[in-house]
Amino acid sequence: MKTKYDERNIIFSRARLKKGTKNYHDYYKTHPQLRKEDDAIRGMNIHDKLRRSKTFKERFLPIHANNNRLLKTLHDTVEQAPLGNRIDVPETFKTNIKAITKHYGAKEVGIVKLKDEHYYSHFGGTNEALNLDNYGEKITPSYTHAIVYLIPMDLTYINRAPDYEEQLETENIYLNIAYTGARLALYLKSLGYPSTFQSEAFYLTPLVPLAYDAGLGQIGMSNHIVNPTYGDRVRLGAVLTNLALPEDKPIDFGLEKFCKRCALCVMNCPSRSIKPHQRMVNGRTFYKFTDVTCFKLWKNTGTDCGTCIQSCPFTQGIDQETIENMLNDTTLMDTVIQNHIEKYGRRKYNKAPLPIVRLEGTK
Ligand code: SF4
Ligand code: SF4
Repeated sequence: MKTKYDERNIIFSRARLKKGTKNYHDYYKTHPQLRKEDDAIRGMNIHDKLRRSKTFKERFLPIHANNNRLLKTLHDTVEQAPLGNRIDVPETFKTNIKAITKHYGAKEVGIVKLKDEHYYSHFGGTNEALNLDNYGEKITPSYTHAIVYLIPMDLTYINRAPDYEEQLETENIYLNIAYTGARLALYLKSLGYPSTFQSEAFYLTPLVPLAYDAGLGQIGMSNHIVNPTYGDRVRLGAVLTNLALPEDKPIDFGLEKFCKRCALCVMNCPSRSIKPHQRMVNGRTFYKFTDVTCFKLWKNTGTDCGTCIQSCPFTQGIDQETIENMLNDTTLMDTVIQNHIEKYGRRKYNKAPLPIVRLEGTK
């Protein structure tokens, strides 16, 4: 039986529930086993425990402090944009749509024909930034297709994970994802096709299954999409639309076998949240993961960590020819992993701060 995800089960939704409210009471009445651990992470600002000086925080935390305002503007603009008179387009327009999405900022793009199970069953109220209160509302699937895309994060920032640079780049790319999606949704509306975009503050579907179905990568042991070119250092976006285009297919570059031999994300995870045990959801392979211990670590370090993203050999780059040769050659996989460890150790971490957050007197 196909399973729908419920956004109310996402850790961010749970952590936002306020004690004493009806939503809190209703949720933990049906999920009593989660309440104690969730209470321990409730209400903390992620940067409260960032181990940085007052000067550092005053200067650099505001770099992305206004992103939510921009997200709201983008969402309101798309929501309020009128539908144009519909123009008909041939199936070959898929090529143009992919090129236009790249023109708006995406690096790779795939198309998915939406099924019921792609959608969340209910909103989880993770959209406070947009002043929307739709917690618990049932989601009615109303779009037929998704244009799914990715934007890679800058490796020099990711290689500082779990330091603040990683968080800066994550927030940066989230906004770029929204900007790309908003432009594409506006364009499609002007062609006469109802469309919306997903952002850090508004989701109708989880993104990893969509990106897998769109052929943007495979699901790694980290439970993230691992793209053959950019590895785990990608952020995902999707525009949902009623423009029907031929769909893409999942890809297989041998990641499942590779992950079994690698497990570097498991070994490097400071909270031991990633487990190497597979679980199947709607025919896609995921891995066991404990969200609450991961989120607790974020709260205790003051950043969103990202060590698993950094640890992945594909994040650091494996050339295309080697990836093709590895597909049916597990000995080559072992050699690639061994070479990676010899070159970088268990993970490639660079502790030297980047100029963007460098204080006087530090190198
Ligand atoms: S973000 Fe950090 S704590 Fe969370 S799963 Fe990845 S490595 Fe582990
Ligand atoms: S670090 Fe290794 S095990 Fe984890 S997702 Fe990447 S390839 Fe797979």
